[in-house]
Amino acid sequence: METILLLLAPELDGTLGKNSLEAVTAAATLATDLGATFKVGLFGKTVQPLADQLAGCGAEAFFAVSDDALGMPRYATDAAAAAALVQAAAPSIVLAPATSRLARILPGVAQRTGGRVDTFVTELAAENGAPVITRWYYRQRMAAKQSRAQRPWCISLAGGCAAPYAGAAGQAAATAVPFAVPASATRIAGVDAPAADAQTIRPDAQLLFVTGAGWTKKQAGAVRLEEASSLILGFLDATQSSLGSTKSLVDLGGEGHGVLPFLSHMHQVGQTGSTPRHKKGLATCCHGEEPHVVGWRFITERRAVNLDASCGWAQGKADVLYVADAFAVMEKVNALLKG
Ligand SMILES: Cc1cc2nc3c(=O)[nH]c(=O)nc-3n(C[C@H](O)[C@H](O)[C@H](O)COP(=O)(O)OP(=O)(O)OC[C@H]3O[C@@H](n4cnc5c(N)ncnc54)[C@H](O)[C@@H]3O)c2cc1C
Repeated sequence: METILLLLAPELDGTLGKNSLEAVTAAATLATDLGATFKVGLFGKTVQPLADQLAGCGAEAFFAVSDDALGMPRYATDAAAAAALVQAAAPSIVLAPATSRLARILPGVAQRTGGRVDTFVTELAAENGAPVITRWYYRQRMAAKQSRAQRPWCISLAGGCAAPYAGAAGQAAATAVPFAVPASATRIAGVDAPAADAQTIRPDAQLLFVTGAGWTKKQAGAVRLEEASSLILGFLDATQSSLGSTKSLVDLGGEGHGVLPFLSHMHQVGQTGSTPRHKKGLATCCHGEEPHVVGWRFITERRAVNLDASCGWAQGKADVLYVADAFAVMEKVNALLKG
């Protein structure tokens, strides 16, 4: 019989993030489907409140490593704590959410415990009594179903693939696992991060707002970059949407053209960019060419604003195409949002 250990660590504010709660649901479901033993392993500065939060999730045992050294994510300490949890719980399957903290250490944990790892898995299932994972390859173009004989099998779960666990809290008796802080040459001095409103890639936003090269093209005889910037940032500010871009627009800077300063290649959506998972998307001044639209694979509600009634979005790629000037549309939308 399989034994599943779900590894979890808190966010910097000490709580479990959405990805972690989704992994709880996925792990509990897999355990039920396989008839497996389900255990939870938590590591961090203080983890008992998190065990209590998950008391009703169906786990038969909780293991905990609590130490001040785990207050901040760091490979050396996190990997040692997670490996100690795996050794204590002796699982055949180790699950973890693909948060940056867990994704960074899971391959190392597999190596330390003699296991194998598969990362960014989007589905877990039980087939003929055995666990099967679904994982995407070649920039999300091909999905593969895989199983492994090697144990422990370490698996990180991509975000957005299960409903977050929301069961009632209770009291969980967590077994404290001994942990020796490994020698480390790294000292954490603090966190230097951009202000929340300077960060325009927001995976948890309700809407993906995509900008295309049209924003930088001559409009009524003139390039209107400043106006474009203020319309785009005004909309993002009011809606807290996530910003995406076409390749043409982010490439312009490298070609010496005028650019929108808040865009980088990190914003590029598409075949050679990212594949965001927002439910809704709004494309503006973007032609909707196939290499861009493949990045919209997971976006199910799509709208676009384009001057060209025969652009790519009109060819079955959007639910609604507004044939209009995006400058005028976004000015009106921003005014309505200010209300
Ligand atoms: C191998 C390969 C990989 C690629 N990978 C990617 C990728 O990952 N991501 C990606 O985005 N592209 C990718 N591309 C490029 C892709 O094919 C397109 O060239 C690109 O997406 C076009 O960007 P765009 O729509 O912003 O620009 P354009 O094609 O220049 O379109 C601009 C649009 O703006 C509209 N417009 C102009 N002014 C206004 C206005 N005032 N109001 C409303 N609409 C207006 C125009 O009608 C036009 O449709 C790739 C190409 C190749 C060959």
